[in-house]
Amino acid sequence: MAKIGYIMIMEQQSILSITQRFGTQEACISYLESIRWPDGPVCTNCGSHHIHNRKDSHRYLCRDCNHSFSVTVGTIMHASKLPLPKWFAAIFLIVNAKKGISSLQLSRDINVNKNTAWYMQKRIRKAMSGSDGLLKGIVEVDESYLGGSMTNMRKSYKKELGIYPGGMEHKKPVLGMMQRKGSVKVMVIDKADAKTIRPLLDRHIDASSEVVTDGFGAYRMLHRTHAKHITLNHSKNIMTAGKYNTSRLDSFWTTIKRAIVGQYHRVSPEHLQGYLDEIAFKFNNKGKDLFNLLICKIIQGRNEIATL
Ligand SMILES: [Zn+2]
Repeated sequence: MAKIGYIMIMEQQSILSITQRFGTQEACISYLESIRWPDGPVCTNCGSHHIHNRKDSHRYLCRDCNHSFSVTVGTIMHASKLPLPKWFAAIFLIVNAKKGISSLQLSRDINVNKNTAWYMQKRIRKAMSGSDGLLKGIVEVDESYLGGSMTNMRKSYKKELGIYPGGMEHKKPVLGMMQRKGSVKVMVIDKADAKTIRPLLDRHIDASSEVVTDGFGAYRMLHRTHAKHITLNHSKNIMTAGKYNTSRLDSFWTTIKRAIVGQYHRVSPEHLQGYLDEIAFKFNNKGKDLFNLLICKIIQGRNEIATL
């Protein structure tokens, strides 16, 4: 194992190597501290470096403002009484499960009860969320309907959005935006209409981008907000125009649907975003050390998730 800056590079990670390396509360804390405070502890209240280390615990006391704190303050691991080795093992299992892991399976693997596993999974997925800046260049945009039992029924939904025919009431519209050779952003939306979709396109896609969509009305006049708008008439089976298509996003939807059918069987609407956050995080960081990446994200991006 080599230490480069505060990122540990581990070769051939396995659940065994993780539980050996991070088998105690102390080992987890010292790793988190090395990431959060590479130059020694900093008061989480006033930013002072004038800190007293309480020997009998893993808490620190600020000599300037008297604030008592620990390294997990503001992170998903803070509020719970769960030992950190369980969090580390859960993070490893979730990021390395290619097809996802059910909370029931997680509960067995790390020996916690079902509700605890569900709670951990929800928080770990939340930590995977968050955007990495604007999408640029050629950006494919499309919506799909996900959740419940899987069939892409978009066309039949179009006429009466929000009124789902028998058995489909669990499906939610989902907006996908994917940069060519780049990241995907995927979000559950209330309604697949222009009023909902357009502000999201403005917020997540750089104005200099070439945006590729089908002929759905919500995408009309996109050339007013973005450099170029390429419309493919999917209903007439026109799937490509020169270098423009939505095939990468199409295959992403297929992956999600297969995963939902294969692992989760059905995903209820309230859990769909968390599920999508997990898939997008794995997709966007393919080939990287997901375990360390997520631990760093949790400890460094703590402000984003402090309100959980
Ligand atoms: Zn302080």
